[in-house]
Amino acid sequence: MSPRLAIKIDVDTLEGYLRGVPALLEVLADFEVRASFFLALGPDNSGKAVFRVFRHQGFLAKMLRTRAPAIYGIKTMLYGTLLKAPLIGAAAPEILPRIAAQGHEVGLHGYDHVRWHDHLFDLTREGVAREISLAQETFTALLGWPARSFAAPGWQCSRESREALAARGFLYASDTRGRAPYFPRFGERVLPMLEIPTTLQTLDELLGLDGCLPQDFTRLVFKRLEASSPQVLTVHAEMEGGPFLREFANLLHQGRDLGVEFFRLEDWARELLLNPQDLPVSRVESIRLPGRAGRVSGQGPREGRSPW
Ligand SMILES: [Zn+2]
Repeated sequence: MSPRLAIKIDVDTLEGYLRGVPALLEVLADFEVRASFFLALGPDNSGKAVFRVFRHQGFLAKMLRTRAPAIYGIKTMLYGTLLKAPLIGAAAPEILPRIAAQGHEVGLHGYDHVRWHDHLFDLTREGVAREISLAQETFTALLGWPARSFAAPGWQCSRESREALAARGFLYASDTRGRAPYFPRFGERVLPMLEIPTTLQTLDELLGLDGCLPQDFTRLVFKRLEASSPQVLTVHAEMEGGPFLREFANLLHQGRDLGVEFFRLEDWARELLLNPQDLPVSRVESIRLPGRAGRVSGQGPREGRSPW
């Protein structure tokens, strides 16, 4: 059986949407790979997050050594502070339909990426629901149909966010870091919406580690693909669609040579949900990852089969 890999592409900023997405679409088309895009279409408040983004010193040092032009242009670094936060989807309404027309999955990556990433746990239940509703309204206005999948900004999810998504009929979410698909438990409650976690380290995390360089990326991803289970890799429109486009193309190139089967998360979700009773339950925990500053939501130990 050939190794299977899903490419999950997060689009956080206007820069990523306007420049990263078209660059990634071209490379994906060259290698005939279909991916899963998750977009934040609301205000780009990147300027408010600049200090968080650059807090990881190992990553910043390596960025400066390897790719002098920064991932984020100077304008992006001022959005939401000195410059008014632009609305990402409205700035180029034609891009979202173009992604879908090329056969890729399109889903939501929150509305205001920075607000979700930095303040999810401070928001009220209504505040969380509002972020999801605004994201869905923007998406539907641009595309004519609602998103069926959601990927939490910064891998931050809560019981409230998962309940709000489940109540709105989302097929699945990809909110956490973990090993394999599961139904998440918060406290005593197991929620009925499937979670497909990101299973592999991201390029920016690898660059945050000692001794790891951009050219090591493909080798490190494929090392993990020897395992028999499908893997999920998150890439960023601002990174792999920007200064690390060469590494991304190299990954797809070598993947093709090795016979890797690339798949979309939505297709896998539908396949898995044919037999929900076979899926495990895991608690969602707050975890730390090597090479990443701060905490993320992660998959806890396996706790037996799902009740469905
Ligand atoms: Zn993101």
